[in-house]
Amino acid sequence: MRICELYQPGKTIFSLEVFPPKGDETLPVAELAGLSPAFVSVTVHASGNVDKTSAIAAEIQRHGVPSMAHMTCVNSARSSVSSSLDLIRERGIENILALRGDPVEGAEPSDYRYAEELIRDIPGDFCVGAACYPEGHISGDPERDMEYLKRKQDAGASFFISQLFFDNTVFFRFAEKAKAHGIRIPVSAGVMPVLSRKQIEKMIFLCGASLPARVVRLLHRHQDSPGDLRKAGIELAAEQARELYEARVDGVHIYTMNKPEVAQWIFR
Ligand code: FAD
Repeated sequence: MRICELYQPGKTIFSLEVFPPKGDETLPVAELAGLSPAFVSVTVHASGNVDKTSAIAAEIQRHGVPSMAHMTCVNSARSSVSSSLDLIRERGIENILALRGDPVEGAEPSDYRYAEELIRDIPGDFCVGAACYPEGHISGDPERDMEYLKRKQDAGASFFISQLFFDNTVFFRFAEKAKAHGIRIPVSAGVMPVLSRKQIEKMIFLCGASLPARVVRLLHRHQDSPGDLRKAGIELAAEQARELYEARVDGVHIYTMNKPEVAQWIFR
């Protein structure tokens, strides 16, 4: 099922994101699929190796849910991107989130600088999505953000998924601005629940999302009680998702952190 066909005007679709588990950990695929999300997307290591990613995406589809494999390009030669596309296709995955990724030390010399170039290289039998950043990319030029977003749409992206943000007004403003700059494809809003202080500190350092006062207060209030923080963080994400849904955004994409109970709570 092509993800771009799942979006419908005036209807909000809910999707989930998971990552390939480390070591012996397993992914509770049946539980996640049981929530009947519109689709599940599977991240990829920055190195660009899609073996685990596509295997998990295929397993998700065997549970009757459309899936999407993430792909990066900045550490890859054109020939390895082509092999990755073959593998993803062989495993029956039709949807790809085409990303630049971040440079990894010791990676093979890259034939790519930007996601836009990868999007152009993906054949039309795939449905291609791309990333967007409501607060701007951490190393980007905010003045030119919209121009680059438009280039990804023009290159063939048929939907966007946003980086996490904690303040919905940031997303609403971004969506308006994108429309004004000619973005016509659907945009799903990325929602990440606060599960621990360490997780949030790491994420905001990595991606530069801002922390509104209500999240800082939450972290402070529950600093001695990780269980209460987790509960309050999930409730806050559910509230955020509900407000986005009521505003009829195109999609809400939940960063599940591989925890079905998190997605379950937010879905409910
Ligand atoms: P691009 O769109 O290429 O942008 C990269 C930078 O270059 C930005 O600063 C942009 O402003 C600038 N730029 C873009 N086009 C041009 C141009 N033509 N000229 C000059 N500058 C330009 N990373 C992973 O490793 N694995 C994952 O699975 C993964 N999943 C993600 C999922 C989502 C929803 C999001 C939002 C991010 C994800 N990332 C993932 C992180 C992503 O790889 C990084 O944020 C990366 O730094 C940028 O990728 P991009 O595809 O947005 O790049």
